[in-house]
Amino acid sequence: MIETIDAWLRLSAIRIHERAPELTALDQAIGDGDHGTNMDRGFAAIAAVLDQGPPDADGELALAAARLRTVGRTLISTVGGAAGPLYGTAFLRAAGAFATAAPDGGSAAVLLDALDAAVAGIQGLGKSTSGEKTMLDALMPAAAAGRERLVAGDDTRAVVDAIADAAAAGAASTIPMIATKGRASYLGERSVGHEDPGAASSALLLRALADVVAGG
Ligand code: ADP
Ligand code: MG
Repeated sequence: MIETIDAWLRLSAIRIHERAPELTALDQAIGDGDHGTNMDRGFAAIAAVLDQGPPDADGELALAAARLRTVGRTLISTVGGAAGPLYGTAFLRAAGAFATAAPDGGSAAVLLDALDAAVAGIQGLGKSTSGEKTMLDALMPAAAAGRERLVAGDDTRAVVDAIADAAAAGAASTIPMIATKGRASYLGERSVGHEDPGAASSALLLRALADVVAGG
C-alpha cells in the first residue's frame, strides 16, 4: 500500500513540475498566477520527504496513514495560498481514514473513505461545495463515481479509472462556471470561460493515481 502511495506521490511530483506553467497560466487568468509554483514547491518538498525512506509505523494501514499525514503537514507548510491549507487538510483527513480503516476492508474501500474524508475536510475548511468553481468540482464527482464503481463490485483499477475520468470531466465542467469561492470569485462573471486551477491540479493528481494503479 505504501509502495503505491509513494509511487503516486513521485509521479504526481513529476507531473506537477511538468505542468506547473499550465497551472500557473490558469491561475493567471482568474487568480494571482501562483498555483503552479505553489504546487511545484509543495511536491518537490514531498519528493524530498520520500527520499528519506518509509515512515516509522507498523502495518500497512498505519504506514499509509503516517505517510499521508507527513504529506499533509508538508503541503500546509510549503504550498501557501488557499490551496496549501486545503490540500494539506485533505491529506490529513485521508490519513485519518487510513488510520481507522478496517484491516481487511480492501484497498478500494479505504481509498474511497480517504477520498470522502479529504473532500469533507476541504468543504469544512473552505466553506465550499460543488458548483463554486473550485477543486471540489473535480474531487466531489470523482468520489461519487468511485463510490458507484466500488458498490458495483468493480476492482481497484476500475474504481481509480472512474475516479480519474470523473475528476477530468469535473475540472472541465468548471470552465463555464462563475466562481463564488476563492480569489476567482472577485472576478464574478469574468471568471466564466476559464478552467479552475485547483480543479485542474486535483484532476492531475487523481490521473496520476490511476496511472500508478494501472502500471502496478
Ligand atoms: P490562492 O488563491 O490563495 O492564490 P492557489 O492559487 O494556490 O491559492 O489555489 C487556488 C485554488 O484553490 C482555486 O483554483 C480553487 O480550486 C481552490 N480554492 C480556493 N478557495 C477555495 C475554497 N473556499 N474551497 C475550495 N477550494 C478553494
Ligand atoms: Mg493563486
